Amino acid sequence: MNHRTPAATVGVVGGGQLGRMMGEAAGPLGIELLVSDPTPDCPAAPIVREQIVGEFDDYDAIRELAERADVLTFEIELADPDEMARVGEETDTPVHPDPDTLRTIQDKLVQNRALAETGVPLPAFRRVDDADDLRDAGEELGWPLMLKAREGGYDGRGNRPVDAPEEIDEALDEIGGPALAEELVDFERELAIMGAVGDGETDAYPVTETIQREEILRESVAPARIDDAVRDRARKVAFDVLDLLDGRGVYGIELFETDDGDILVNEIAPRPHNSGHWTIEGTRCSQFEQHLRAVLGWPLGDTALRSPAVTANLLGDVESPRPAELVGTDSILETPEASLHWYGKREVRPLRKMGHVTLADDEHGRDALLSRARELVDDVTFE
Ligand code: ATP
Ligand code: MG
Repeated sequence: MNHRTPAATVGVVGGGQLGRMMGEAAGPLGIELLVSDPTPDCPAAPIVREQIVGEFDDYDAIRELAERADVLTFEIELADPDEMARVGEETDTPVHPDPDTLRTIQDKLVQNRALAETGVPLPAFRRVDDADDLRDAGEELGWPLMLKAREGGYDGRGNRPVDAPEEIDEALDEIGGPALAEELVDFERELAIMGAVGDGETDAYPVTETIQREEILRESVAPARIDDAVRDRARKVAFDVLDLLDGRGVYGIELFETDDGDILVNEIAPRPHNSGHWTIEGTRCSQFEQHLRAVLGWPLGDTALRSPAVTANLLGDVESPRPAELVGTDSILETPEASLHWYGKREVRPLRKMGHVTLADDEHGRDALLSRARELVDDVTFE
């Protein structure tokens, strides 16, 4: 193929921090980004060519993106697969990843079934529509179990551990819609692999170790502190998952490592993922550049590790929403191996993802990078 620069315009449904970081990656490659997002002046807006203000299922906004772009993609699971597919056909614009893949992933029950059908290992699960289903699920999977909303969950919202049959009604009320129950995995560690599907090639970044508290990702350590056998197993499972997905792009695959070193798939994200932010400093081609290369059908970039890296999220440490101002960034700015990433959100809310800090270098071990990253994040506050 004969690639040219400047070459391409990419239309992105969603303009949050992932769209913003895609925009940061696009510039040097001569790629222009257009995003659509319902929030005027969304995080991506100052970085990209233009934001079209519209909901994630707004036909006119998606249609405008497609008309002006060479390829249509998305950075949020709330993007409407039906509208993207329709607009793609009407304007003859390719959509990547395939809207069918997004549709499957949007519903955690459908996603789990698709994985289970092809023999990908995952926690035992059961469909739950009512109290009887949940009681049966408990008998089959054992208590406690994890109840999950089938759609719309993120950052642990939409998940509810259920300890015993007495909690059934309360738990169903909280979830408030169609759900699934999963066996509660007593994992040793959580891992993630960022995979990339390009034009006839598939690749994956080194395995990331992810650390969640209150079901929200706090830190990512790369490469994961695991033995080689677990790493190889995780990569094999990830490539099996990538094989099932239609359409080009970067995919985040969340995994559990069990006590016995087995790997189970938790869930898939059809887009760059929080657990891959370290790739900006830790590899030559970040997950954001990779996503753009992939959706455009360009050659994939290098996924090899440049140096170990740890990312710590900057979450809203406030009790209630207020204008966002981060105080005390001095120590981050004064640490040579630290990079600050601010997402440009106007309002801070409790536990909202506001930015992140990545520490990358070859000299300190990963344990030291992790403790330092935690210290730096503890030094800053929105209060
Ligand atoms: P996000 O979109 O932020 O990744 P989410 O809301 O879609 O999260 P999950 O990834 O399903 O939710 O779950 C969030 C966290 O809850 C997981 O990272 C894990 O720590 C815990 N968790 C989820 N499912 C299980 C399970 N079956 N057993 C044990 N822990 C679980
Ligand atoms: Mg998750």
